[in-house]
Amino acid sequence: MAAAIWSCPASQMLEFPLSSFVTFCRNHGLLQVTNRPQWRTVRDGGREYVNRLAAGIGEIHLGQPVESLRPRGGKIELVSGSVSGIYDQVVLASHSDQSRTILAAHYPAQARLLRQMPYQPNRAVLHSDASVLPRRRNLWAAWNYQSGHSALSERPVAVHYLINRLQPLPTETPVIVSLNPLQELDPSRIHGEFHYSHPVFTRHAASIQRHIAVGNGRDGIWLAGAWLGYGFHEDGLASALRVARKLDAAAPWQGLADAA
Ligand SMILES: Cc1cc2nc3c(=O)[nH]c(=O)nc-3n(C[C@H](O)[C@H](O)[C@H](O)COP(=O)(O)OP(=O)(O)OC[C@H]3O[C@@H](n4cnc5c(N)ncnc54)[C@H](O)[C@@H]3O)c2cc1C
Repeated sequence: MAAAIWSCPASQMLEFPLSSFVTFCRNHGLLQVTNRPQWRTVRDGGREYVNRLAAGIGEIHLGQPVESLRPRGGKIELVSGSVSGIYDQVVLASHSDQSRTILAAHYPAQARLLRQMPYQPNRAVLHSDASVLPRRRNLWAAWNYQSGHSALSERPVAVHYLINRLQPLPTETPVIVSLNPLQELDPSRIHGEFHYSHPVFTRHAASIQRHIAVGNGRDGIWLAGAWLGYGFHEDGLASALRVARKLDAAAPWQGLADAA
């Protein structure tokens, strides 16, 4: 179960700090059989909140990856292809390994810390091949873990998310996202294939996160992202709110910045 939650090989979970694991399970109501939390979905999908956030931001440059940052007269020069700009503060909300690449040349102290928070790749296939789900339909769950031959395998975890049970979809056809499927899928039922990456939480993760929190903002460089928490959506938001608060920027809704 833990490997499915963190999308990592089952054997890697043995590295995961126990106190963080128990806290996570308690926060998400995973330790109780009754009185479970009521999960809700965002109407029309996650793109809706991206659209609303984007509407409040003046200038957005899409498809223009930041290549590097370098100190320039007490400020920071941001380089992206042939374009560059000078900024007082920069918030990197990319994955730890992506931020490390951006910082490697001119901010070695931050890059060294980031090296200790790696990401690992996972393959995801969007399809309608129900043969990956349990044979008995009444056993179909939102998350369906597929074990290999060994209980504590080092291979990437295989999970089949039944999206129809996670979101209100206007179809009875099973819509499945398979993470690292173990068997070949029916090619005629495959709708797309994607490569994602997930943070790897080693036993040192919590202390590295604390180090980063203490030094965050050094040289005007701020780090945010889900990897600074447990690796989930709410962790990305909480990390951004912490940075916003340190920069004296108020959250657009009351109270949440204080709670983060
Ligand atoms: C298959 C799958 C299932 C998941 N299920 C859940 C779930 O059920 N619940 C949950 O809470 N979370 C889930 N997650 C995790 C969730 O998607 C992540 O926690 C969240 O999206 C991470 O947010 P983030 O802001 O840290 O990173 P991202 O959302 O990945 O954002 C990083 C951004 O940085 C940008 N970027 C990277 N490099 C550069 C560069 N050089 N210059 C400029 N921009 C750059 C990228 O384009 C990207 O937009 C799942 C993830 C996957 C892959």
